[in-house]
Amino acid sequence: GQKEPTDLNQLAEEYLKLAYHGIRAKDQNFNADLRLNLDTNLSPVNLIQQDFGRVLLNLYNNALYAVQQKQKQTGNGYLPQVEVTTYSNNGKVELHVKDNGTGIPAQLLNKIYQPFFTTKPTGEGTGLGLSLTYDIITKGHGGELNVQTEEGQYTEFVVSLPATQM
Ligand code: ADP
Ligand code: MG
Repeated sequence: GQKEPTDLNQLAEEYLKLAYHGIRAKDQNFNADLRLNLDTNLSPVNLIQQDFGRVLLNLYNNALYAVQQKQKQTGNGYLPQVEVTTYSNNGKVELHVKDNGTGIPAQLLNKIYQPFFTTKPTGEGTGLGLSLTYDIITKGHGGELNVQTEEGQYTEFVVSLPATQM
């Protein structure tokens, strides 16, 4: 794949729907409140679109899995939410994926980017998603990937990419 100037908003929305429909196809009882806060003045980003699509799917699938798990643990009264935010900032474009799911325990945070690290049962996770995601963002696009999380409360991944020079 080659880098092409891309409207990240459009890609972010398209893949969110794809991920959500994929999960609902397997679990019709699952409902999540999906929020898109898209910056209408977002600069174009040079993306290898196929690779970046995998980044989005990995982050979204992880977020949806985390809220689905928390819903199973918590039951009524819990509203699963996944919020996707984009904005331009100082020559960079940021994409935030925030979920109010299970969160990541502090002692596991240094492991999540390792290939094959997973907390999911066999068949539900390979542990390759974040490792691949990290490489695509950093090596493939010169960007950064950061995470903030609180166990039992939320997880927020932040992708930061250089905006296309105009
Ligand atoms: P997999 O999804 O196959 O387990 P990943 O590399 O995508 O592999 O993620 C590694 C681990 O990081 C997951 O098993 C999970 O423990 C943790 N994780 C990633 N994203 C989230 C999230 N949004 N909420 C809670 N835990 C997460
Ligand atoms: Mg994953």
